[in-house]
Amino acid sequence: MSLQTVFPSSPAASADIPQAGAVDDALYRHMLGGALDLFDQGVTVFDGGLRLIAWNRRFVEMLEFPAELLCPGTSYEAFVRFNAERGEYGGGGAEAVSAQIAERMAAARSFRAHHTRWLRPNGRVLELRGQPMAGNAGFVTFYADITDQQHRQDEIERHKAELEAHIQRRTAELTATNAELTAAIEKNREITVALRYSEARLRQITDAIPAHIAYVDKAWAYRYANRRYAEWFGWTSATIVDQPIPTVIGARLFDQVAEPVRRALGGEEVSYEYTLTAADGSERHARSTLVPDFSPAGDVLGCFVHGLDITEQRRTQSALAQAQKMEAIGQLTGGLAHDFNNMLTVVAGNLNELREARADDAVVGEYVEPALLAANRGASLIRRLLAFARQQPLSPRPVEVNELVHGLTRLLRRSLPENITILTAFGDPEPVALVDPHQLESALLNLALNARDAMPNGGELRIQAGIETLAPAAADDLELAPGDYVQISVTDSGEGMDGSTLTRVFEPFFTTKKASGGTGLGMAMVYGFIKQSGGGVRIRSRQACGTTVALVLPCAERSDGAAGEYCPAAGDPAGWLKGRVVLLVEDDPEVRRVVRKQLAALDCAVLEAENGEEAADMLESIPAVSLVVSDVVMHGSMDGHALARFARSFRPDLPVILMSGYTEAAGSISDDLALPILAKPFTREALYAAVSRLAPFMQTGGEDAA
Ligand code: ADP
Ligand code: MG
Repeated sequence: MSLQTVFPSSPAASADIPQAGAVDDALYRHMLGGALDLFDQGVTVFDGGLRLIAWNRRFVEMLEFPAELLCPGTSYEAFVRFNAERGEYGGGGAEAVSAQIAERMAAARSFRAHHTRWLRPNGRVLELRGQPMAGNAGFVTFYADITDQQHRQDEIERHKAELEAHIQRRTAELTATNAELTAAIEKNREITVALRYSEARLRQITDAIPAHIAYVDKAWAYRYANRRYAEWFGWTSATIVDQPIPTVIGARLFDQVAEPVRRALGGEEVSYEYTLTAADGSERHARSTLVPDFSPAGDVLGCFVHGLDITEQRRTQSALAQAQKMEAIGQLTGGLAHDFNNMLTVVAGNLNELREARADDAVVGEYVEPALLAANRGASLIRRLLAFARQQPLSPRPVEVNELVHGLTRLLRRSLPENITILTAFGDPEPVALVDPHQLESALLNLALNARDAMPNGGELRIQAGIETLAPAAADDLELAPGDYVQISVTDSGEGMDGSTLTRVFEPFFTTKKASGGTGLGMAMVYGFIKQSGGGVRIRSRQACGTTVALVLPCAERSDGAAGEYCPAAGDPAGWLKGRVVLLVEDDPEVRRVVRKQLAALDCAVLEAENGEEAADMLESIPAVSLVVSDVVMHGSMDGHALARFARSFRPDLPVILMSGYTEAAGSISDDLALPILAKPFTREALYAAVSRLAPFMQTGGEDAA
C-alpha cells in the first residue's frame, strides 16, 4: 500500500526544513514517507486546524481506517466519529456517541500533550502519545500496539499477584505454624517447669520419708537415692548417682548384699537384713527390700531399694528381752531365796542352840561350827540373791552422795593396788539421793572391785557423781519417769566386755572369773538393789577400752530424812524387855521356836501366834504386850504390816519389829509405820540390836508390868 505523506507548507514548518528548492520536493516527500513507514509505531500528524497531514503504514494496519479517511486534510473529527460509531469508545446510542466525540474533540483542541492507553473492542491494546507542535501548529501522535506487552505485563502482574497471594498464604501458614510452635515451646517450658517442680516435690517427699529409697540399674549402679539412703552410706543424693554399688556401700557390706541384688535383678523380690559398722565402730542395722523393675516387655530394667533403719528397734527389742529375762530370773531367785531363808533360820537357830547347850562338848563344837559357818555363808548368799530379786530389806534415806563417795574413795585407796589411779568428779549442786546408804556403799564397792579385776595391769578408776536430767527416751530405756536423778558412775580403763558378756552381766551367777573364784553375784546385787531403790543401771563397755557403769537414783529432799532414822543402839536390851510380854507372830513353827528361844533369853514372857488374825485377837485381849515381833508374809489375810497397823490403831506407841525373808518391793523400813525389819535369817545379836534400838520408845520400865 503506498503511503500518502503530506507536510504542511506553513512558514513555521518550512523554516525548520531545508528549502524546497535545494532538494527535489517529490523525492523529499517520498523519502520522508518511506522513513515514517519504517517506524514500527503508528504515527499521525494533524495540523493546527486538526486536519490530517501525515500518517504511516503502521497506523493504517493498526487502526483499520477505511481508505476514504486516509487522505490529507481529513478532519480529526472524522476519525473520532468513525471510531465512536464503530464502538471503539464503548459504544452506546447516538447520544453516547456524540458525547464521546465531544469529549475527545475538546481534548484535541486543548493541544496538550497526552498519553493514554486504549483498549480496543477487538482486544488489542494501544498506547497513544500525543505531542503538540510549537505554536499550536498541530500535533503528532504515536500509536504503539502494546497488546503483547500488555499481556506479558498482565501475565507478570497475574504471576506477581499469584506469587504475592502464595507468599501471603505461606506467610500466613508460617505465621500460624510459628504461633503454634511458640505456643508449643511455651507449653513445653511450662511442662518443664511443672516437671522440675514435681520432681523437686517428689524428692522432697522421698527425702522426708523415714526410709532409705534408691534405684539401682541393671549395671549395678545407682540411678537415684533419697537423702537418707545417700547419707546412710556417707554420700549425697547428687554424688551417689552413677556410682557402682560396691563403691557406695563398701566391699564388706557388698559381700552381704551381692546375692540379694543378683536375685532382684533376676526378677525376684527379696528382703534381707544387714549390719553396717559406722566409722566410730558402732553397729547399725537395716532391713531392705529389693523390688525388680520390669519393662512392659517383661525385662528387668533395674530394682527399687527400700530400706529401714532398725537399729533402734533392735536395741529396744533386746532391752525388752533383757528386762523380761531379768524379771523372770528375779522371780525365780526370789522364790527360792525365800524358802531357803526359812530353812536356814531353822538350821542356824538349832545349831546355835546346840552349840550353847553343849558348850563343853568338843565333839559337838567340831561338827556344829562348820555347819554354822556354812549356814551363815548360805544366809549371806541368800541376802545377795534377795538383793537381786529386789526383795532385800532396804532403809532408804537422803544420802549426800559426794560425802559417801569421798568415804568410799578413802577405803578404796587403802585396798586397791597402787597401779590403779582413783579419780573423782563431783557435780554441783551436791546430789542427794534417796537410797539405802549401806547398800549403796556395797554396790559401789562391787563396781570398784569389778573395775580392779578388769585392770590387772593397772589403769584409771573414775567415780563421778552429779545430777542428771533424763529425757523421755533415756528415761524409757531405764524404765523410769523423765526428770532429775542422781547419777553415780564408775568408769575403768580396763579390758571391757564383749557383746555376749554385756547381755548377761546382771544375771546372778554369771561370771567370767570362775578360775579366780568369781561368784557372779556382784552385778546382780547392784542391779536388784538399784531397781528396788527406784533407779536404774546403765552400762557401756567396749573391749580393750573400758567400762562405765552408771547408777541412776531418785533424788531426795533433805526433809525426806527422819522417817528412816533410828536412835543409836543404847544400853542392854535386857534392860527394858526384862519381865515384859512379847508377842511373837510367825507361821513357821520351827522359826517360831528358834526366835522364841532367842527372846526368852532376854528374860521376857513370849506369847506365840501362828498368824495375823490370831495375833490381833491376842493383842486386843492382852494389853500387857509390850513388843510385837512378827513375820511379814504369813498365811491368812493379815500380814505383818496389816497386823502392825491394827495394833497401832489402838496402841499407837506399841513397838513392833517385823521379820522377813521375803520383803516385798516396798521393802525397806516398811511403809508409813517406819517399822524396823529384821532380815531373816538373823542372829541373836541382830535381834537384840533391834530390840535395843526400841528402848527410847518405851514409856515405862518393864519391871512393873511383870
Ligand atoms: P564376778 O565379779 O564375781 O564375776 P559380777 O556380777 O560382779 O561377778 O560380774 C559379772 C561379770 O561381768 C564379770 O565376771 C565380768 O565378766 C563382767 N564385768 C563386770 N564388771 C566389769 C568391768 N568393769 N569390766 C569388765 N568386765 C566386767
Ligand atoms: Mg564382781
